[in-house]
Amino acid sequence: MSKQTELFERSKQLVPGGVHSPVRSFKGLPITPRFVKEASGAYFQDVEGKDYIDFCMSFGPLILGHKNTEVEKDLIEALGRGWSYGACEPYSLELAEFLIENLSHVEQLRFVNSGTEAVMTALRLARGATGRNKIIKFDGCYHGHVDSMLIKAGSGLAGEAEASSAGVPEGVAKDTLILDLGDKEGVIQCFKDHPGEIAAIIIEPLPANNGLLVQTIEFLTFLREITAEHGSLLIFDEVISGFRVAFGGMCEVTGIVPDITTYGKIIGGGLPVGAIASTNDIMKNLAPLGNVYQAGTLSANPLAMVGGLSTLKKLNEETYHNLEKAGQKLEEIFNEWFVGYNDGEFKDYHMTRYGSLFWILPGGKDIHRVGEIPLNLAGRFNKLFPLLLEKGIYLSPNAYEVGFLSQAHNDFVLEDLKKRLWS
Ligand SMILES: *Cc1c(COP(=O)(O)O)cnc(C)c1O
Repeated sequence: MSKQTELFERSKQLVPGGVHSPVRSFKGLPITPRFVKEASGAYFQDVEGKDYIDFCMSFGPLILGHKNTEVEKDLIEALGRGWSYGACEPYSLELAEFLIENLSHVEQLRFVNSGTEAVMTALRLARGATGRNKIIKFDGCYHGHVDSMLIKAGSGLAGEAEASSAGVPEGVAKDTLILDLGDKEGVIQCFKDHPGEIAAIIIEPLPANNGLLVQTIEFLTFLREITAEHGSLLIFDEVISGFRVAFGGMCEVTGIVPDITTYGKIIGGGLPVGAIASTNDIMKNLAPLGNVYQAGTLSANPLAMVGGLSTLKKLNEETYHNLEKAGQKLEEIFNEWFVGYNDGEFKDYHMTRYGSLFWILPGGKDIHRVGEIPLNLAGRFNKLFPLLLEKGIYLSPNAYEVGFLSQAHNDFVLEDLKKRLWS
């Protein structure tokens, strides 16, 4: 038995499925998960000493790559001051000031510990601020494991939904309405069917958790207008897209100003941070000012705040320019390989990409909603992923997860990728 198989077997005795987050389990793949020993730049090394070019990058937070030396230095310095106070400190203040200075659509924010927590609070805040209960979400958008967001389409009226996870009560599921991405008519119908009841529409403005389903600015603008018209709020869940597609995320790219924005992933640079950001007027509803309760023992953890600030301060126009260039190169390398490798076993594949986010799928075109995703996606991926893994190339270990580039994926790494692909 290999060392990693042995570790995984031990882990399965102690932890459900051997993992602390399901996608790590390689479910459906014919191999056991790699156990990471250490990581640096664009690479990680497993406990058996094999190294991989990492295109998962902790599922997004590591925009500078693993173990950026300057962030490391700032974190070590912060460790020397202790790592949790449960009291006011200047480090979260510094991060909040930096963010509000650099995000034109944000007046106030609050830090939490994860993207899920940010969404949970955003939904409660939207409901508290509007005095309404219903939320519209879109099929194919992931908003963390909040009860009311674990929802799939029901059969019946526009938007009708049921829980997609056991343990979510019907009473919770019934206040979420679910629609297809791009379905304007469905949105209009929901507002007609539920007058004065819809607290908010939540969307990933760049849906990147169930493939990469890029939306039109026109659709996002429509959501902005119809929510404003009906006194509902628009929530942009920018947990993946924030600081990734531009510093100001999709708000900056589209120029659309949502009422509430949620952040996670890059905002902590690989440490556990999330945030809810909005206007003074909406944020004043949160405790201790208002009657929407929210709290956290480890919120604004000083170590995590330093990790976030140190990471975010290094992002500038050049970063995004370089990420786009690396993305173009990556796309070229993979698309060439799909066509030419091994008698063209993957020649029907292509890469769809938005800056430093990418997704590979069979079929020659980019797609924009769940119904367009090829049905054989997972089966094909279960052949492709182990092949690449063997070559020392680590994708996110699930057909529906996107891949991530970081600043560390430079020309040297991309040349190495080419060599590994064709080896
Ligand atoms: C990752 C993600 C979340 C959940 O964040 P966690 O930190 O995993 O709880 C929520 N929304 C979006 C858009 C995400 O990408």
